[in-house]
Amino acid sequence: MSFEKFALHEKIFAGVQSQGYKTPTPIQLKSIPPIMEGRDVMGLAQTGTGKTAAFVLPILQRLMQGPHGHVRALIIAPTRELSEQTNEVIGQLGRRTQLRSASIYGGVSIQGQIKKLRNHVDIISACPGRLLDHLGRGTVDLSHVEVLVLDEADHMFDMGFLPDIRRIVKSLPTKRQTLLFSATMPEDVKRLANDLLQNPLEIRIGRTAPVETVSHRFYPVQMDTKTDLLKDLLDHTVREAVLVFTRTKSRAKSVAGRLDKSGYKVISLHGNLTQQKRQKALAGFRDGRYEIMVATDIAARGIDVTNISHVINYDMPETADAYTHRIGRTGRATKTGEAFTFVTAQDAALAYSLKRSLGDKVAYHSVDGLTMAVPAAPASHPGHNRGMKTQNGNGRSFPPKTPGNRSGKQRSFKPAGRRSWSH
Ligand code: AMP
Repeated sequence: MSFEKFALHEKIFAGVQSQGYKTPTPIQLKSIPPIMEGRDVMGLAQTGTGKTAAFVLPILQRLMQGPHGHVRALIIAPTRELSEQTNEVIGQLGRRTQLRSASIYGGVSIQGQIKKLRNHVDIISACPGRLLDHLGRGTVDLSHVEVLVLDEADHMFDMGFLPDIRRIVKSLPTKRQTLLFSATMPEDVKRLANDLLQNPLEIRIGRTAPVETVSHRFYPVQMDTKTDLLKDLLDHTVREAVLVFTRTKSRAKSVAGRLDKSGYKVISLHGNLTQQKRQKALAGFRDGRYEIMVATDIAARGIDVTNISHVINYDMPETADAYTHRIGRTGRATKTGEAFTFVTAQDAALAYSLKRSLGDKVAYHSVDGLTMAVPAAPASHPGHNRGMKTQNGNGRSFPPKTPGNRSGKQRSFKPAGRRSWSH
């Protein structure tokens, strides 16, 4: 099936072609027709599935008709990066249309945004806080909005934005189309969807598990050897762009500093940076000036860099959902990716439940002198050792007593002098 079936306006179709999209992704196939019919849609879809184009294309199609120059579509996103990215996608897909879009977020001067809004825009891609600021100043008029999109709704909930969203919605016409996208569906997001969406069509793409195109490795490690292990993996992996996650801003900075000292082309991205520095860092990572980016969760949300071959969890994420989101940064669109996760003894419980939900896709690996024994599964899980068999099923302990048991899965590693076992 091709994009022709959607009968998009020729100028929008030209935008699709300019991006090199040949066939619609599953979320696009399922959601573009009902959105074009004007239905409310609740999309349970992971990041990297092509969901941005899934809502941007029908919005452009709708806005080609009717008056231009009023804000008729509003997209609300949790982070500056995501709203900027969505605005870019609108710019790319809508390049040949006369429609104008703007991104609205904090951390940059409000005056420039006010000027842009005065010059008439048709689509706004915004973060909640700054949008409320504009509403308070009367510098944005949302009374003509026909389509509201809530993107990454679960992140907005995590970040405490749901009350802001309810306040913004009060400034919108009640007669409108509402679309909500979320990788996971916590209770609060369900309630929000119930309140804001009318008779929505629910679309689910895959399970809420990390995207299928990613393979997962766990490395049992002690805190103080994490950086050495990181360098070792970077040195022995065939890779493109690498995104490393740390739990705190200060650790993102210090890990990046250590890698920089060792000669890697690395940049960090975290909430303590000014918006300008964040954008510069992202641009440098995107265009390949930096091969590695060390980031915190918040900073990395919504990042779409297509050539990320590896996500490395230097620190284990706090929840399984956070794992899903981090991993969604690699294996985007049709590419494949690998996720390496450093597991300390404290992370054993989450590692165990991830292992159970991902099954055979996760393997424990070791690196001589740098990794430790696989942490024991929490005692509360009956039969807990089931998921930690050796790859050949011989029940050998970790690390194995005999060398040379190299795993066939270690394709992208230089084999010389290395041993790896899969549990
Ligand atoms: P998203 O989930 O919207 O962040 O999209 C993930 C990536 O997939 C982006 O780099 C898009 O440019 C790309 N993409 C979206 N739709 C398609 C498509 N139909 N074919 C190929 N790539 C796509």
